[in-house]
Amino acid sequence: MALIVQKYGGTSVGSVERIKNVAKKVIAAKQAGHDVVVVVSAMAGETNRLVGLAQQISELPDERERDVLLASGEQVSTALLALAINEAGQRARSFLAHQVRIETDKAYGKARIKSIDSTRVRKALKDGEIVVVAGFQGVDEEDNITTLGRGGSDTSAVAVAAALSAEVCEIYTDVEGVFTTDPDICAAARKLDRVSYEEMIEMASMGAKVLQIRSVELGMKFKVPIHVRSSFNDAPGTWVVEEDESMDEVLVSGVTYDKDEAKITLVSVPDRPGLAAQIFGPIADASIVVDMIIQNASEDGTTDLTFTVPKADYKKARALVEQIAKTIRAKGVNVDPDIAKVSIVGVGMRTHAGVAAKMFQILAREGINIEMISTSEIKVSVVIDAKQMEPAVRALHKAFIEQQGKL
Ligand code: ADP
Ligand code: ASP
Ligand code: MG
Repeated sequence: MALIVQKYGGTSVGSVERIKNVAKKVIAAKQAGHDVVVVVSAMAGETNRLVGLAQQISELPDERERDVLLASGEQVSTALLALAINEAGQRARSFLAHQVRIETDKAYGKARIKSIDSTRVRKALKDGEIVVVAGFQGVDEEDNITTLGRGGSDTSAVAVAAALSAEVCEIYTDVEGVFTTDPDICAAARKLDRVSYEEMIEMASMGAKVLQIRSVELGMKFKVPIHVRSSFNDAPGTWVVEEDESMDEVLVSGVTYDKDEAKITLVSVPDRPGLAAQIFGPIADASIVVDMIIQNASEDGTTDLTFTVPKADYKKARALVEQIAKTIRAKGVNVDPDIAKVSIVGVGMRTHAGVAAKMFQILAREGINIEMISTSEIKVSVVIDAKQMEPAVRALHKAFIEQQGKL
């Protein structure tokens, strides 16, 4: 008998019918002899609806109150699932974050879990109950309600699994597992049987929203095996596990895209020490995360500095940068929100040369202009015009995955 944690995403609990279906799956696991803890997301579309309501009242809503509002979506689905399990004849008990005590820091909207007190959950399991925990929410040390960032129920689930030393954290979703690229935009995408934590972290960071990045980081840190699978059938999905030697043989495991960034260019910045700090200091102080940065020195002693920020923050970033541009006498500021970042990810890149060159050739053949490049040991990313994102993903998938990535 094992302790398992199951997480059901928004689509999986998107209607009363689907919640009843989830109740059946949970009960089947319990009847197979397991202790079961279920973590649930809000019903599909609910978090967006709540975000929209807050925005109708204020363009920049108070962050504390916004989290109180957003967390309500998970309260509803948690209660409905507990009701459905009870109705189907098994005992279930729901817990909100403050009742378990999932404690986070104070960063509203992107809080990080600091600790989980699992005493009440363990007691309920010992009493033979199925435990249903609200995903996405936490409380800070002063009991303010916090949320963990979009897609955060994945992180709640892996953190609960780590706290309970669960055998596995099953992430039930609307696809059969982690695919070589988003199946919604590339019909040739195929399911991966296994992927390493490290690759999954890169894929999630580069835009594969099937798992929240933080959930994979926690899985890796606490060695929680994560099984991503469909809530609509019983087929095995994708195991996110520790890397082993056989994984090196695959050059590229996944192709990802991200349309949630915007590009900002400071034109003709005087080329002298300390300027980068002067530019990026205020941006960091405003809690804006800068992703890629490139700097081109030109011959007249000035340089163009281009960087990307989350699209949600680009207006705030532009206002700051325009201010800075005046102080440092840069010529101007250009902003382009219509960009996409397309990346290839694979641990095999560590041991193979020429992967980036091949990526650039493929994009050139498609007539796609590369605006920025960044690399790490196991990924290459390029920024391109948003309109060319889909053809780029398909061409890279074809060359690196369908044709096995021969260099
Ligand atoms: P949930 O509501 O269950 O958390 P999400 O919408 O957060 O589901 O994540 C599942 C979705 O992630 C899929 O429907 C798919 O469109 C998208 N996705 C993006 N990249 C990938 C990928 N590489 N593999 C699988 N799904 C992906
Ligand atoms: N309901 C939250 C969201 O839509 C959390 C989640 O689904 O994981 O982002
Ligand atoms: Mg999700």
